[in-house]
Amino acid sequence: MALESREVRLRSRPEALPTADNFSLETVTLADPGPGEVQVRNTWMSVDPYMRGRMRDVASYVPPFQIGKALEGGAVGTVVQSNYEGLQVGDVVMSMFGWREAFNAPGNLSGMAMMKLDVSQLAPELFLGVAGIPGMTAYVGLLEVARLKEGDVVFISAAAGAVGSVACQIAKLKGAAAVIGSAGGKEKCEYLRSIGVDHVIDYKAETDLTAALKQAAPKGIDVYFENVGGAHLEAALNAARPFARFAMCGMIANYNGGGAPVNYLEMIVGKRLRLEGFIVSDSMRLLPQFLGEMAGWIAGGKVTSTQTVDHGIESAPAAFLKLFSGENLGKMLVKLT
Ligand code: NDP
Repeated sequence: MALESREVRLRSRPEALPTADNFSLETVTLADPGPGEVQVRNTWMSVDPYMRGRMRDVASYVPPFQIGKALEGGAVGTVVQSNYEGLQVGDVVMSMFGWREAFNAPGNLSGMAMMKLDVSQLAPELFLGVAGIPGMTAYVGLLEVARLKEGDVVFISAAAGAVGSVACQIAKLKGAAAVIGSAGGKEKCEYLRSIGVDHVIDYKAETDLTAALKQAAPKGIDVYFENVGGAHLEAALNAARPFARFAMCGMIANYNGGGAPVNYLEMIVGKRLRLEGFIVSDSMRLLPQFLGEMAGWIAGGKVTSTQTVDHGIESAPAAFLKLFSGENLGKMLVKLT
């Protein structure tokens, strides 16, 4: 039976901070799934900062979104029709067919494109946050890229967000001597204290971020988990101990253009720093290890998570924009049903 589904399309490419005009909401009619296909009704979808990069018409590690086409991104949904023997009606799947209420797709897509979820222990939406790509990004960035060691002093920017909040908790669990988290506003700072962050910096209330970081880490930092760029990177360079390791995860302050130049890069040489960019999808071999460890931490109450939830596909563009105004605490999600 045909199914109506609304989807968000890219109407035009944003020049700077996107606006509602860059998106359109359209309705499509889905036919029954063809041979080997499943029909999935999405229950949750993710909005993520990297999607801003896909709105530019430039080659990158993921292809750009196409004007007039539905956007893509992480989603969790329930199989409502199946012509694929590996998936049954009622199965919960994670896919990259977000930004739409329902879709038909081949059931045998591999990896993150279509993955059956075991939701017996964890709520489905956690696979878009703490037990999904954001959590895995924190895990890979700290353990594989920064090679976190016991006794390290760790600085994390955008610490109250999806990736940052998990990074703070993993750093503590893996023996960091101190975790310093930076976030904007009192509520986020309170949240960081509640998840065990040792020193909290409200960067919006600071005139001198470097001074604030040096006060929190008088002997310097060993690891910087970079989510922001700009003044945060400058502060980390200034506070770094010799041979400190920087996991360069993201630079959200630059995603809409107009980022200020970064000073003090010469310190990379004198302090013999290692700055390494990474993309989590290059480390998918670590997914089973990550899921195993994370499931144990969540079950044991050692890692907690919070979400900011907006409702309905029509709210997705505004939910996406909240990532840039900082209105999200923890993982930003859209609940679709
Ligand atoms: P978050 O949940 O952290 O949301 C983004 C947060 O960034 C906002 O809440 C806001 O927090 C902060 N922010 C936004 N604009 C600025 C600004 N101009 N200056 C300072 N802070 C700002 O998003 P994610 O956890 O999903 O992503 C965090 C980072 O990780 C991003 O840079 C993203 O691109 C990156 N990432 C990288 C991956 C990889 O494979 N390398 C994979 C996934 C994410 P506040 O209120 O504190 O300012």
